[in-house]
Amino acid sequence: MSNLPHKSNWIDGSHQQPTHQQIHIINPATEEKIATIDSTPLEAVNSIIASSLQNFSSGVWSKANASTRFGVLSKAASLLRSRLPEFIDLETQQTGRPIREMRAQLARIPEWLEYFASLARTHEGRVTPFKGPVVNTLTRLALGVVVQITPWNHPLLIATKKIAAALAAGNSVIVKPSESAPLSVLEMGKLFKEAGLPDGTLQIVSGYGRETGKFLCESPFVSKIDLTGGLATYEAIAPTASKNMVPITAELGGKAPVCFFPSMPIEKGVKAALFASFIASGQTCVTGSRLLIHSDIYDEFVKLLVERTKALRIGNPVDDKTQIGAVISRTSVERCSAFVSRAISEGGNVLCGGEPTSVNGKGFFFAPTLIETKCGSDLACNEVFGPVIALIKCQSEEEIIKVANATSFALGVSVWTNDFSQAHRVAERIDAGIVWINGHHLNDPSSPWGGFKESGLGKENGIEAFESYTKVKSTVINYGQEPTWFDDEVENARYG
Ligand code: NAD
Repeated sequence: MSNLPHKSNWIDGSHQQPTHQQIHIINPATEEKIATIDSTPLEAVNSIIASSLQNFSSGVWSKANASTRFGVLSKAASLLRSRLPEFIDLETQQTGRPIREMRAQLARIPEWLEYFASLARTHEGRVTPFKGPVVNTLTRLALGVVVQITPWNHPLLIATKKIAAALAAGNSVIVKPSESAPLSVLEMGKLFKEAGLPDGTLQIVSGYGRETGKFLCESPFVSKIDLTGGLATYEAIAPTASKNMVPITAELGGKAPVCFFPSMPIEKGVKAALFASFIASGQTCVTGSRLLIHSDIYDEFVKLLVERTKALRIGNPVDDKTQIGAVISRTSVERCSAFVSRAISEGGNVLCGGEPTSVNGKGFFFAPTLIETKCGSDLACNEVFGPVIALIKCQSEEEIIKVANATSFALGVSVWTNDFSQAHRVAERIDAGIVWINGHHLNDPSSPWGGFKESGLGKENGIEAFESYTKVKSTVINYGQEPTWFDDEVENARYG
């Protein structure tokens, strides 16, 4: 046992005794160990699932009325708002992201709880236009025990999005946050308890994906799996979900194109590129990782972009002035370096960055990097998940659309133009789950979020996410007087 603070699993309304095996959490900006968490074994996972099942079948939450669910989720939102500084600090330490980014992101998270609270309170069933003397009602029921597997890049945002939608719909939830940055999510249990959520309705279980995550997903007692992570993780989970016949929501990777047209002023376009590409050190699923720039503005645009990229302030994430923080691990630094080497060997031209760096001699940092490359190259096709950005010069609108669509991902895309018709033409023809026009990274609890192709299945946010946590029950009520079958008189009248 170490002397580090230990954050254990949150089960049945309290933090549990630490498990035998533990995992160290490392601050990527300082390389210091900051805490330990549980590595939850199979037997413990089975008993947590049994307890969640008991919670679901008791009806304490699954049958709670809409105003109760509204009340608990709304209270959780206000509690989170009142404790933001503590969560911002945790998030900054465990992800290495600049505190100014974490302040902006976390300030919005309570909105997800409020939005899904409102949906819980206002969402209504339907009555279909069923033929005959029949009333057909459609009601939405909670699914059961649902498992949510979340990543390290926006730990609290992504977990809260999923938890809020699932709880609003009446499910019992088991969340497994990433073993790289689980601390803020593990803190949410206490907050929900204080908000009035019955014990056992939200279980927070830590551990490695290939062990604890796998055990959770393989359970035949789980009714839905909601994953945000990489394609390889989806491919590991999908066969068991298919065998157990449970739905999956999968928010996977991306290779977002950011398309710049001549009508966009260069200064505005360059600021947009910096924001799209380097927020979170390029570690978001919608990182603007391919800048597709029209040849009419290319030279001037790239000159200013390189100048501004070199001026970005890399630093300690807790410093208010820092604009670029760490990447999550040494492995991430090595992955960025490998992408740069392959890009060079394919004829790419490194305009700036291209190397690991450090702050006070420590940390997993990689300099913001811009590389001119061609459509079809390794860097233009594959997700880096770091600050290594491909620049591609395109001769026409047609070429920008063609290049934008030339990857196996289809998550986010942004189109920067002041030509209204062009904005619509291009948005219509780029295959992506989310298209921003003159914006990037824009997110709202009401706005469905999810990709096509290898970027995933299903949506987070919005009515879509809420409904994905329900199953539809059709109740068909015959209020006619006649017997319906094996009655000659009725059959003759009906069919002649
Ligand atoms: P990851 O797939 O390695 O891990 C995600 C989660 O899955 C972690 O909790 C991990 O422990 C768990 N996991 C891993 N293997 C598992 C298995 N076999 N069974 C069950 N669980 C398992 O991804 P990551 O490195 O944490 O996150 C980066 C990836 O997530 C990138 O590809 C990124 O694009 C994607 N992402 C997508 C979105 C989106 O909204 N589409 C948002 C953020 C991140």
